[in-house]
Amino acid sequence: MTKEIKKYKYLIVGGGMAADQAVAGIRSIDKEGTIGIISSDTDEPYARPALSKKLWVDPDFHDEDIDFHTAQKYDAWIKLATKVTKVNPKKHTIETDNGEEFEYDKLLLATGSEAKTLKGENSERVIALRSKQDYLKIRKFSGKGKHVIVVGNGYIGSEIAAGLIQSDTKVSLVITGDRIFDKKFPIFLSEKYEEKYLKAGIKIYHNKKASSYDLVGDEVKVQLNDGTVLQGAGLVLGIGAFTDYSLASEAGLKVDEHGVVVNEQLKTSVSDIWAAGDIISYPDQILGRQSAGHVRHAINSGLFVGKQMAGVTGTYNYTPVFYSWVFDINWEAFGQVNSSLKMYAETLGDDKYIVYYFDKQTLVGILSWNSDVHLEHLKEILKKRPTIEELDRVINLRAVE
Ligand SMILES: Cc1cc2nc3c(=O)[nH]c(=O)nc-3n(C[C@H](O)[C@H](O)[C@H](O)COP(=O)(O)OP(=O)(O)OC[C@H]3O[C@@H](n4cnc5c(N)ncnc54)[C@H](O)[C@@H]3O)c2cc1C
Repeated sequence: MTKEIKKYKYLIVGGGMAADQAVAGIRSIDKEGTIGIISSDTDEPYARPALSKKLWVDPDFHDEDIDFHTAQKYDAWIKLATKVTKVNPKKHTIETDNGEEFEYDKLLLATGSEAKTLKGENSERVIALRSKQDYLKIRKFSGKGKHVIVVGNGYIGSEIAAGLIQSDTKVSLVITGDRIFDKKFPIFLSEKYEEKYLKAGIKIYHNKKASSYDLVGDEVKVQLNDGTVLQGAGLVLGIGAFTDYSLASEAGLKVDEHGVVVNEQLKTSVSDIWAAGDIISYPDQILGRQSAGHVRHAINSGLFVGKQMAGVTGTYNYTPVFYSWVFDINWEAFGQVNSSLKMYAETLGDDKYIVYYFDKQTLVGILSWNSDVHLEHLKEILKKRPTIEELDRVINLRAVE
């Protein structure tokens, strides 16, 4: 690993999924240029999605297996537990929360997202899951028949609930909807989700909200909006993420409603500064300008931006796919996947479906449920933006609610 110096050819703010791949991208082109990474995390880059999935269900897979060893692998320098507080584009410097200053030739912002939390005193027993240390803390208060409360109707809440029950933990899952993922999937698929959770022994509290918690001795107490009180050894929150753009906006970079604005090369509005991963507002070739808080986007944009910074010129053309797997359910999706849209299902075989989402007459999103259909093929369909009638001519569609 390179030593600490005061000026780097490539300086990366953030040490997550996009940063790891950006370093790989830089090194695939430039074997010599100095690379520095400054991260507020206490751990080097690691495979974040495993925190709610594989680490809970594969006994031969351990937390050290998720480490990327980025700095060592690519001869970069990394500084951990350090927050970048200011970017000075004119001076080509950044400042950190411990008062240090570093100079750059080319800067990458890859600061990702943070998990939302609820009102309550900070505790090692209340975790809004985002980092490896969060995962390790959950391990401490779960297992061996302990009761853990999970709040959230998104993929993190549903995955960690499934992971915990498969690790000998009693789980209460609090969701805002009628069924798990009812805001995304048609009823017949969200019912399939529910079945798996109920069969596994998870107690689900439907149409409920938790807004705060209290610490009671060694336990956490959560009061739901209907007065129900849940108490357990710990509380895990999967209630969404937010992105802090202040570093970019205070440095004068253009930010819009989606994030830090970048062009097709993932360059920001300020010279010598690029951005990648969750924080960017980028022009997607199929979906238009958007942001995407998904890991494959972080990986692809990171790798792409690293190469750009090292001198390659290209166009970012990856349309992000998001995915989840729990129990024996495996799905991938892209575009708008929202059950308030018109939905049509194609049955491909036993428990294998494609769901097409239409906004009025136009195809806007696709969900692939347990199917083996190549996603690039589905992306090609979305690219053509067929109407319901046009798609129905070639695929046997069934309207679903
Ligand atoms: C538990 C979990 C499971 C997930 N599962 C999936 C999944 O199945 N599928 C999917 O598509 N996506 C999933 N995601 C989302 C995916 O992990 C993210 O989209 C991806 O990690 C984003 O990469 P990133 O590099 O942009 O940000 P991150 O990986 O969040 O990394 C950001 C880094 O920046 C650092 N940082 C932030 N601010 C500063 C600062 N000012 N100074 C220095 N460092 C800073 C942080 O400490 C962190 O190291 C999951 C996320 C979590 C938390």
